[in-house]
Amino acid sequence: MSAGASTRYVRHAVTLQDIDEDAHRVVRRLHQTGYEAFLVGGSVRDLLLGKRPKDFDIVTGAMPQEVRRIFRNCRLIGRRFLLAHLLYADGKVLEVATFRAEPYDQGEGETQLITDDNQFGTPETDARRRDFTVNALFYDPEKGEVIDYVGGMDDLKNRLLRTIGDPVVRFREDPVRMLRAVKFTARTGFTLGEPERKAIRAERRQLRKAAVPRLYEEILRMLWGGAAAESFALMHELGLMEILLPEVSAWLSRKGGPDHDALGRMRAVLEALDAHCDGRPKLESGVLLAALLWPLFSDLLDDLPREPDPATLKKLTEELVAPAALRLRMPRRDVSMLVAALELQLRMPHVAHKRAARFGLARHPGFPGALDLLALRTEAFALDEADLTEWQTLRDIPRDRDDAFERRGGSPMPAHRGRGGAGGPPSRRGGPSRPFPPRR
Ligand code: ATP
Ligand code: MG
Repeated sequence: MSAGASTRYVRHAVTLQDIDEDAHRVVRRLHQTGYEAFLVGGSVRDLLLGKRPKDFDIVTGAMPQEVRRIFRNCRLIGRRFLLAHLLYADGKVLEVATFRAEPYDQGEGETQLITDDNQFGTPETDARRRDFTVNALFYDPEKGEVIDYVGGMDDLKNRLLRTIGDPVVRFREDPVRMLRAVKFTARTGFTLGEPERKAIRAERRQLRKAAVPRLYEEILRMLWGGAAAESFALMHELGLMEILLPEVSAWLSRKGGPDHDALGRMRAVLEALDAHCDGRPKLESGVLLAALLWPLFSDLLDDLPREPDPATLKKLTEELVAPAALRLRMPRRDVSMLVAALELQLRMPHVAHKRAARFGLARHPGFPGALDLLALRTEAFALDEADLTEWQTLRDIPRDRDDAFERRGGSPMPAHRGRGGAGGPPSRRGGPSRPFPPRR
């Protein structure tokens, strides 16, 4: 790791007008004060790919306390390490981190603050502790230079996602990087390196050692990030789904007749979701999960000898959702929304022609989410649009408050299974009076 083992590029796709003005100003100010400072991470990657970055992270040689002295709008935050956040009137936050030397802080929630200067490093050590080569490029907007310590520019040119260093080691250090590999591969359309693929297949069980909230967060990011179809197909291909969502993986692997195109159906719903998402979370987490689980859920229902009564429907939903909810420690709100979105799909066709019952159902706190899922299904499987439009007229009617919904326990978690009238979305009546609608 000799100092200065970097390549500098002045010919690249980034132009100043693509860069957030405040971020540029921060870098300039740090330079004027005598410090090194660069844009780094996802923003540089996205700028080089001609995409608008979600946020602009900055790294500098200035210590956090010095950053605070320089910028009045600065707050220091930090678990194990201090980071500077610069706050702007429009709600924007720019993160300014000091070059680090130690392995990447995984944000496991430690509260101990270590501000020992030894932890800080140089641009090179900071680049090398990052996950993928294309995520470790620095950009100096003053000189218009990209600084590359890890071969990221070549990988970017060849559209290749590679870890910095041995993938087995890097994935063992932090198994969540396996999910990040899938997410970035799917989002950029890059090829995932062969050693990285092999390492994921070999090391995927390490995911069980990762902090569950981080895994859950990455799953949600894949769902709303605009490349869900590709992400989950790759998750299955690499065996990660088997660890995180074994029910989905078993269903995808099941041998079936020619109409058991499970992967195709999962992709269809997720493609509809991708068309709707622009890289920001727009739908409730529970609805995102419901979109992922819907084709499997509808197959479970199709396997039944007859149309399920409300109790059977509830039991089936619980049996599907509860293990995943426990495994991924889903927040109660997400579980409630997920269960409601699935169950209401089945109840909607039953009451479609009964005005009072339609209103009753539309007052359910999970109804807007169910409507979102119905919209995705309508798009994915060319269902009747008039039906969707009709339901959408009821989106804004007054309904029960969400917190009441959560307390009532739409949750299928075992702890709430008991008696006491609690139970998922109300099943009321509306039994099997109509032929069971085609389920897609
Ligand atoms: P996005 O567009 O999704 O925000 P990003 O590349 O900015 O993508 P972040 O999760 O915001 O990703 O992280 C910012 C940067 O921090 C990454 O580009 C990478 O350099 C580094 N990083 C994040 N997580 C890890 C990790 N688990 N291990 C090593 N480096 C990481
Ligand atoms: Mg980012």
